[in-house]
Amino acid sequence: MATHSSTAQADRESVEYESALQTARRQLARAASLLDIDSNIVERLKYPAKIHEVTVPIERDDGTVEVFTGYRAQHDSVRGPYKGGLRYHPSVTRDECIGLSMWMTWKCAVMDIPFGGAKGGIVVNPKDLSPGERERLTRRFTQEMRDAIGPNRDIPAPDMGTDAQTMAWIMDAYSMQEGETTPGVVTGKPPVIGGSYGREEAPGRSVAIITRLACDYYDMPLSDTSVAVQGFGSVGANAARLLDSWGANVVAVSDVNGAIYDPDGLDVAEIPSHDEEPEAVTRDVEGLLSNDELLELDVDVLIPAAVGNVITETNANAIQADIIVEGANGPTTSGGDAILDEREIPVIPDILANAGGVTVSYFEWLQDINRRAWSLERVNEELASEMETAWDDVRSEVDSRGVTWRDAAYIVALSRIAKAHESRGLWP
Ligand code: GLU
Repeated sequence: MATHSSTAQADRESVEYESALQTARRQLARAASLLDIDSNIVERLKYPAKIHEVTVPIERDDGTVEVFTGYRAQHDSVRGPYKGGLRYHPSVTRDECIGLSMWMTWKCAVMDIPFGGAKGGIVVNPKDLSPGERERLTRRFTQEMRDAIGPNRDIPAPDMGTDAQTMAWIMDAYSMQEGETTPGVVTGKPPVIGGSYGREEAPGRSVAIITRLACDYYDMPLSDTSVAVQGFGSVGANAARLLDSWGANVVAVSDVNGAIYDPDGLDVAEIPSHDEEPEAVTRDVEGLLSNDELLELDVDVLIPAAVGNVITETNANAIQADIIVEGANGPTTSGGDAILDEREIPVIPDILANAGGVTVSYFEWLQDINRRAWSLERVNEELASEMETAWDDVRSEVDSRGVTWRDAAYIVALSRIAKAHESRGLWP
């Protein structure tokens, strides 16, 4: 393992703060300015249709009662039921849920999936809860949100801090109250109760597919491409392993404690992902880089696949990668984006790159409605084909308008949403 002399760490305190909602609104305004769409539609899209806020009391294992706050922001449903993840994280806020729900609207539209956008969360550190407490919290949240969700209304899925088991509890709580087994109320469930094969791996798989397409586009043979991946959870680990198996040289990966780096390449198949063994990437490793240092490595492709707001005005000038593929939701702030644009470093946006998750969620929902499971081969084939179609749609906007990849993805998404609003009109 190569060690690395410690370089100046970005002072986290001084990093500009931009909420997901601010970023989402700024990106909407920018995309709208590039398109000839009705300003009344843009005005509507700045706001969520509904925000549900609930109080979730649970009995802790020691017998005391603790009260948590949960949200579900439902942004726009013009193209279909609301869809999006549910996160358990101490930093969840109402505004963050709104911003993330807007991204889901664009993500579904860029993939041409007949869903709208939603996002929810509970303000909690799931590591502080026992499995029993997590289950009670999830079941009570489901009960509080029962009128807001449903297979034709709003369909939650895993996100930060939640997983297939969380979805199984939601499905069970909802089904018990409805008096009928309703697998389509959530996606990302275990396959044994109607989950789709390949769903867990799908966001990472789509990041890998989009990275491969981007490398082709920029004439970079994958076998000569070095890749650094921030985060080794389900997105980062699956993307890293697939790219490695397709011949790319994954030189750095990280977890919350720091990054490991070897310019000759890491054996990523051998490193347990966060889901397999939390924080195993850095265990017993000497000479770690920091997560900030990983972002500044001289690599061909950088994949931020951990948390939001990591590429900012403060560090965008220090990025040395030739291409950035966003694995996390919202890893680049608007300020960071502007600098990367000026420096002509292409950023393939989250709403395209990690959209494999919601795409396979859509496949799962179809399987639940039809009561018929697809094979893993079929899921992966259809996912690859959907990603290629969406890539082509976005690429043709890049080529014809000379805009950034993010602007192009927003142009594709916003045009579809605006057309749907125009044809449905305003009720009443
Ligand atoms: N949480 C994932 C995302 O941000 C998946 C959403 C879904 O499958 O509904 O895209």
